[in-house]
Amino acid sequence: MSTREHRTAPNGGAKALAAPAEHAPALAAPEAPAGLIEPPPVVVFDKVSKTYENGFTAIKDVSFVVKDIPGKMEFVTILGPSGCGKSTVLRLIAGLPPQFPATSGEVLILGKPVAGPGADRGMVFQDYTSFDNRTVEDNVAFGLECRGVARKERRERAREWIKKVGLDVDRDALKYPHQLSGGMRQRVAIARTLILRPRIILMDEPFGALDPTTRLKMQDMLVSLVREASATVFFVTHSIEEAVYLGDRTYVFSSCPGTILKELPVPPPDFPAKEMQRQPEFMQIVFEIRDMIENLESSTRAGDE
Ligand code: ADP
Repeated sequence: MSTREHRTAPNGGAKALAAPAEHAPALAAPEAPAGLIEPPPVVVFDKVSKTYENGFTAIKDVSFVVKDIPGKMEFVTILGPSGCGKSTVLRLIAGLPPQFPATSGEVLILGKPVAGPGADRGMVFQDYTSFDNRTVEDNVAFGLECRGVARKERRERAREWIKKVGLDVDRDALKYPHQLSGGMRQRVAIARTLILRPRIILMDEPFGALDPTTRLKMQDMLVSLVREASATVFFVTHSIEEAVYLGDRTYVFSSCPGTILKELPVPPPDFPAKEMQRQPEFMQIVFEIRDMIENLESSTRAGDE
């Protein structure tokens, strides 16, 4: 069964939102029933801080746990203003410098400290990261090529993924990135990442540069792909609508230095993005989060010396 089908009923979201979970301290997982060994969490951040060489602290004491629950792959959205450390969090999970390594605290992936990039994690960036001198097909097949998969098999699998992300194999497979629109290029980037079946998918504002209509279509596509994939997704955005639509839960970040203000369960994307994001219940949740962020930020600022 689809992992995300286990989530809260559509009208459960507003109720859940009315009583938002305070951000729980890390490592406070409930005990497993006797005799069962609980798998390690997918990601643990335990009081993680990052101060860059110039002395600027981007994130401070960030703690959260995303547990590995069989049959339930979570879609975590990270919401916050520009510069609040969202990419820093993502790149610490990915093991990418200069954000990685953290200055203090611990980042664990499936129970082990991050040592650098790995095949268990795949990343999609906001800017289009395809190779200009490779066709769509060769871009999508790139990771398989690096893994030594034979040409025929990687071609077949690449074409399968080109279709899955909504591109037309006959029309698009042999095109080069400069012949594609922004939305099409992001479809290629998503196919290139998901073809490798990473356990954790990291997405850094992947739809941030797209026009609103394309963005909604991409959200729909992502929902259906993630429902098939056995992966936990971390999705960074500064759009409240996008975070609420896509996420199972949202971490709301504050800036200077970045830290988690609130952890919120949000309702599942049970309808197409365009339809759901017009519903009064959905808009109500978005407004509540907007107010909450404004209130939290002003109270945080008021507490600063
Ligand atoms: P976000 O993704 O929320 O926009 P980032 O995680 O990219 O924010 O950055 C958080 C803060 O850290 C920003 O103020 C940014 O300018 C700063 N920062 C990012 N990279 C570096 C770096 N290499 N050196 C110094 N400061 C950096």
